[in-house]
Formats: sequence, structure tokens, C-alpha cells
Amino acid sequence: MINLYDLSLPDLESLLAAWGYSRYHADRLWAYLYQRRVQSVAEMVELRPELRQKLAADTAVHPLTTQLATDSSDGFTRKFLLGLPDGQTIETVLMRFKGRATACLSTQVGCAMGCVFCATGQMGFTRHLTPGEIVTQALYIDQCLQQKGERLRNIVLMGMGEPLHNYENTMTAIDILTHPKSLAIAPKHITLSTVGIVPGILRLADEDRQIRLAVSLHGATDAERQALVPPARRWPLADLMDACRYYTQKRNRHIFFEWTLIEGKNDSTVQAHALGQLLQTVDAHVNLIPLNPTPGYGGQPTSRPSVKQFQGILTQYGLPSTVRQRRGIDIAAGCGQLKVTGLERAGVKNMTPDA
Ligand code: SAH
Ligand code: SF4
Repeated sequence: MINLYDLSLPDLESLLAAWGYSRYHADRLWAYLYQRRVQSVAEMVELRPELRQKLAADTAVHPLTTQLATDSSDGFTRKFLLGLPDGQTIETVLMRFKGRATACLSTQVGCAMGCVFCATGQMGFTRHLTPGEIVTQALYIDQCLQQKGERLRNIVLMGMGEPLHNYENTMTAIDILTHPKSLAIAPKHITLSTVGIVPGILRLADEDRQIRLAVSLHGATDAERQALVPPARRWPLADLMDACRYYTQKRNRHIFFEWTLIEGKNDSTVQAHALGQLLQTVDAHVNLIPLNPTPGYGGQPTSRPSVKQFQGILTQYGLPSTVRQRRGIDIAAGCGQLKVTGLERAGVKNMTPDA
């Protein structure tokens, strides 16, 4: 059974061509999926009956089911635990601040990378998401926004999973989401965050998508980085920085570097200087994210004054940086946390069964 949401428009055209239908039919089917947003093949009433029959027999339109929906007390974040056809669940987050709505999408069920402070890393890897499972998260969020007369315009691939470990499916999803007759998300409004998979960064640099890249660094020496981010053993900083420089030069874009600030681990002035030096030769913007504590890791977030001090040192190196709070800590809005803690232990309030 083919999930129609898994197919890019060229894929859909090939499928229909193999059945003897022209591009015209693929375009109409595409419009049913992404403009009219039908929930089943049966609703595609203007397609030829024999095509509808074939689609009903061989394909499906798999929606995501709402398992939990919860609002943060500050009202800026709405987090969803969504059910997949095989019963697995993933997290998708709608963030709204400064008049901008952003969807944070997952790319895998769990994650194989094992970063010690990350709730998703702590749960291990279950499976990759298909392109359609990534796309339908965005459709789900867009549907929520449409109820308020808004549209989804910004996406971050910063939910559960490592997008460059699921390269093909993530890129197919991006191609679908950016298609002008789909959600038409501007590529520059999509940010892909990676733990630093070097071959993936090189490939992304060589391919022609104008999306933005964020690289999770968290340590500026190999030893310190490896203690937090196990894949750093496979891809040392020298290789990672070479790949990042190649990316910025090839794509003519800066890279966001993410740094989760953990008290006593990676927030000293010495470490700030090391980061400043490391990024001297890269077109970079640093995002400092005070740790959102997770059940499987004893670390604490860096205090506000120390965050300011850390940021001040980066400024001395001419490095632009932003402090980003992971929103809605009261609803466990850190990556993977809703799934891992369960609602009661996370102290979730305002639970509603549906969007
Ligand atoms: N796998 C990708 C994208 C998902 S994680 C990556 O690692 O980049 C998105 C960002 O959230 C990463 O920078 C990650 O290090 C950070 N993160 C994960 N858990 C966190 C936590 N508990 N507190 C603060 N940041 C966290
Ligand atoms: Fe995976 Fe990213 Fe979490 Fe690391 S931080 S375990 S790469 S999701």
C-alpha cells in the first residue's frame, strides 16, 4: 500500500504514468492532497472512476492521529503527541511568538545518536519516518493555524530524530513542503538541525536546496564534545568544521551553531573562548540554549548571569549569538520529553484531546 503523502510530484507523475495516466491527472491528485486537503481517495470525486478505483486498491492517505495536545502556560507553545499508522508516536510542536508561527517537526521515531542530555537520545532509535509522515506533521499544524485564519510559513526540523540520518526521506519531505502547489513553504524558512553528520552536510552543500542549516556543537574540543554527543567520535571537529566551511562557501549562507548550555559542563569562560576560536573561520551564528533538564540526565541549565558572560565572550570574537529558551518547559517541550515522561510526571495542565 503506497501512502500518497510519501510521493513528491515527480514520483506521483511516474506512478500515474505507469498506470497510463498523464501529468494532468497527477496535478489534480496533488491538488486534492495539498490544496483541498481531502482525507481519503473516496473524496477525490472529480478523478476518473477507474483511477479512483486503482488508487483505492493500491494507495492510502494516512493522516496522523492526535494522541495528546497540550498548551504551555505562557500560551506560546502547543505540543502534540501524534500517532502513526503502525501505532508509534512522535512529537510535533507549534510555536507562536512575535506574530510568527513555526512548526517543529520530527524526522525519526527516537534517535540513534544518543546525546546524553536529550530525551529522544535517551529512548534510542525505533525507525525512520517516511516522507509522508514528515509532511503530514506540517499539514496537521497548518490545519490548526487555518482554524485561526493563519498559514504555516516556518519549519524547523528540530523535533525527534536526526534528519541527516534519514537523508532521503527528509529531502523528499522538504521537496513536497516547498512545492508551490503544496504548502509552498519558502526554503529559507526551513531550518534543518543536525548533530553533525559530515557526509550529510557535504551532500546538502552539493544539492540545490536553499534551506538553512543548524549544527549542534555543544563542545569546542573533541574530548568535551564526545562526552555529550557520541557521534563526535566518528566525525571529529576538524572534519566537521571543514564540512561546515565547504557548506557556507558552496551555498553562500551562514550556519547556525547550537550550544546547549549545561552548568559546569560547557559553560565556562575558557570554553566560550574555545568556541570563539573554533568559529573564527566559519560564517556562523550561535544559538545558546540553556539546558532543558531531562529525566535521564542529571545536568542543570546555566544560570542567567553565566549565559550573559558566555555570550559576551563570543561577542569579543565578533560572533553573533542569540539566547533561545526552549519554550514551554512546563509541558516538557524539550525534544522527546512529552513522549518519555508521560503527562502526569511532566506536570502537564490544560490537556485537551484534540487540536
Ligand atoms: N538531531 C538534531 C535535531 C533535533 S535536536 C540535532 O541534534 O541537532 C534539536 C536541538 O535541541 C539540538 O541542538 C539539541 O542538541 C537540542 N536539545 C536536545 N535536547 C535538549 C535539552 N534537553 N535541552 C536543550 N537543548 C536540547
Ligand atoms: Fe538525536 Fe538530536 Fe537528540 Fe542528539 S540531540 S539524540 S541527534 S535528536
